[in-house]
Amino acid sequence: MNYTTSMHNDEVKQNILKCSRCGLCQGVCPVFEEIKDEKTTARGKLMQIWGLKKGDLKLNSKILKNFDLCLNCDKCKLNCPSGVDTTGVFNKEKKINLLGRFLNSVFVFNLKLSALSFFSFFKKTPIYEKKSDILYFEGCIAKKLKKEFKLQGVKLKNGNFECCALPYLTKGREDIYKKIVKYNEKIIENAQMVVFDCATCYSAVKNYPFKNPKNKEKLVFYTDFYKQIEFVAKKNYKITYHMPCHLKSSGVKLEEIENILKSIKNINYKQMEKADSCCGFGGDFFIRHPKIAYSISMKKAKNIINTKADFVLTSCPTCLWSLQFSMFINKLINKNNKIPKVMDLNDFINTFCAVTLKKQSKTSQDAGKCELLL
Ligand code: SF4
Ligand code: SF4
Repeated sequence: MNYTTSMHNDEVKQNILKCSRCGLCQGVCPVFEEIKDEKTTARGKLMQIWGLKKGDLKLNSKILKNFDLCLNCDKCKLNCPSGVDTTGVFNKEKKINLLGRFLNSVFVFNLKLSALSFFSFFKKTPIYEKKSDILYFEGCIAKKLKKEFKLQGVKLKNGNFECCALPYLTKGREDIYKKIVKYNEKIIENAQMVVFDCATCYSAVKNYPFKNPKNKEKLVFYTDFYKQIEFVAKKNYKITYHMPCHLKSSGVKLEEIENILKSIKNINYKQMEKADSCCGFGGDFFIRHPKIAYSISMKKAKNIINTKADFVLTSCPTCLWSLQFSMFINKLINKNNKIPKVMDLNDFINTFCAVTLKKQSKTSQDAGKCELLL
């Protein structure tokens, strides 16, 4: 199979025709919740794409704006009873002109990311194992911030992957996406396992059109390892967890993460209301639509603060930024409220927890991962 596309043209048509127009996607869309405009829902977008394809509609700035009003959160896709791959269609049908091609080129993307180097100027580049078949997929943000990923008890080699390519796919640069997929698959091909700590990268790579489908089975989100370990927190902490949209869409269940957190001794886990609702960041959505993003992030913040937790944890660098921002704003405006500290889940475990003992593995798949623990 060639790396031709993430979705073929006939698949786009099939997906649109599968839509029964039930409207369930409207009820789960965070953008619709804010602006109450049907044209921005998945159903609305699909109908406009279909209208353009049939020639009933002409592309104009209003339609482009409707397409642009999307957090790429996959909520519509996950909740569609007809199984329409909504975001797959949106990505395939993205329309960009010459300027758009330039603004979404590798050069400009790297230029934007290079601003992050400012924050890690004095930091040392993390050192990983030289020899190991278990590779770490270091995302672009972790790379630029020189953020070290430590997985308790596992020898990790940096796979030196390219970007997960989602920023290109969602911006209409399928040509770049295909090249990156090809490059990254070559590395995955020679690995025993590839471990991710970024929900977005994990979701993006899991959706690659793999040449060798077996490569998909090698992809693991790091929390899978922690199902095999028992931890004790150094102090009593109350914590809550924000479920990143892309962790959910990659197939990881909120309960899996919660079970890990609940099993940590001295931890009091409190589920926030709507733990899996979007944080509002959405790649660069917050720059393009700051008012909507701000409103979504403040709703999330309210649910976090209501838990009265010491920490809010998450597993995606952009969710982390979004939560840090909304907690900071709340600190300024609600001086009397207890504002939880924001932390990456794995950083929290490495900083505040110690291993007590390995749990018994319940499945052979889990046992395989247990053997990899030192
Ligand atoms: S939920 Fe699915 S089938 Fe229903 S309107 Fe939305 S896209 Fe169409
Ligand atoms: S991906 Fe999210 S924001 Fe975009 S249409 Fe679907 S539910 Fe709405």
